[in-house]
Amino acid sequence: MRNSKLNPATVAAQAAGAVDAQTGGVVPGISLATTYLRGEDNALLRPDNTYGRDQNDTVRQTEEVVRALEGAAASLLLPSGMAAVAAVFRALPSGARVVMQTGIYWGTLKWVRDYCVRRAIILDEVDAADPDALARACRDSADMVWIEVPSNPWLQCVDIAAAAGMAHKAGAVLVVDGTAATPVLTRALHLGADLSMHSATKALGGHSDVLGGVLSCRDPKLPMWAEIATDRHDAGAVIGPFEAWLLMRGMRTLPLRVERMCANAQRVAEWLDAHDGVAAVLYPGLPGHDGHAVAARQMTGGYGYLLSFLVTGDRARALEVLGRLRLFHRATSLGGVESLAEHRASIEPHSGIPETLIRLSVGIEDAGDLIADLDAALG
Ligand code: PLP
Repeated sequence: MRNSKLNPATVAAQAAGAVDAQTGGVVPGISLATTYLRGEDNALLRPDNTYGRDQNDTVRQTEEVVRALEGAAASLLLPSGMAAVAAVFRALPSGARVVMQTGIYWGTLKWVRDYCVRRAIILDEVDAADPDALARACRDSADMVWIEVPSNPWLQCVDIAAAAGMAHKAGAVLVVDGTAATPVLTRALHLGADLSMHSATKALGGHSDVLGGVLSCRDPKLPMWAEIATDRHDAGAVIGPFEAWLLMRGMRTLPLRVERMCANAQRVAEWLDAHDGVAAVLYPGLPGHDGHAVAARQMTGGYGYLLSFLVTGDRARALEVLGRLRLFHRATSLGGVESLAEHRASIEPHSGIPETLIRLSVGIEDAGDLIADLDAALG
C-alpha cells in the first residue's frame, strides 16, 4: 500500500496493506525466523533476507505503517525510545556540536549529557521555545539540533519550521522527538525536520504493553541516516518481531485513539483551569498557554494527550491529591488507552520540576468519569 494519497486513518486501520499472503489472512502473521534459506545454487531464496538480526518482514511491515503515517522516505524501528535517541547520537562524530532543547524528557537529557561527555561532543542546552535563544545558539555552526514537541512535562511547543530554518543555517540536521504529538497530530518532516523520533512505547503502541522506538527520515541520502541503519544492523539494537507485531496491531487504532485522547485532554485541561485548587495548567490547547499559537499552526486535529497541572499548596498537597485518585492509575509513562497520573518531581528530583506539578496522560475513558475522579481528588 505505497499510496501516499491515503489518509492516516486508512493507512493505520489497514496497517499499510499488511495481510498474510500465504494464508489469505487479513492480519499478517509474525515472522520469527532468525535465519533464511539458500537454494542448491547457494542463492538466497529472498535476496533481502540473509539473517534475522535486522532483516525481518514483521518489523518491515510495522516500519511501513510508521513511514506512511509520517509521510517519511524511510523509517527504522528500535527496541525502545531511548534506543532510538542513542542511535541518533551514535551517528555523530566525536567533537560534534549539538544544540539541545532543555527541559525535555529527563531520561533523554540524562543519557545525552553523559554520552556527550564520554564522546567529547559539545552540548549546548537551550530554551528552544524562545526563538531568540535558539537563534543565538544556532549562530555558530552545529551538527545537530534536537527538540521535543510538545515537551515532557512542560508542554512547550517549539515552532518546528522556524527551528528547521535556524538549524539548517547552522549546517545542522534538525531532529524532533514528537512522542507527545504522534504523527497523527504533527508531521515534523513535512515542517522541515530531517529526522523524526518517537517513543513507540507511548501512543503509537497505545496499550502500555510494548517497548519500542522509531526514527524516520525525509531524505534517505542524509549521511546520518545511512550511519544509523548500518549501526542498527552491525551493532544489533533491534526490536523483536513480536514487539513489532504488537506495535502494528496498536497502530491500527492510532488515529481513533488520538482523536479521543485529545478531546478528553482538552476537556480535562479546561476543567482543571477553572478549578480553585489548581494554580496553573500546562496544555497547548488552552488559549492562555505560551505555546498555543505555535501549536495551533503545527498540530492538526488536537493538542495531544499529555498535560501537567500545578496544585495550589505544596508537595504534600500534590501527593495527597494524587493519592486520592481512584480512576487515573498512579504510574509513569504516557500514551496508553488508560489515564495515568504522576508526581514528576518524585521521578526527577533536583531538575527544577515544581513539587506541586502533577502530570497526566489522558486516555480514552469517558471524560466525565475522569473529571469526576479529579474532582473528588482535589476535594
Ligand atoms: N521521549 C519522550 C518524550 C518520552 O516521554 C520518553 C519516555 O517517557 C522517551 C523518549 C523514551 O522512550 P522509551 O521509554 O520508550 O525508551
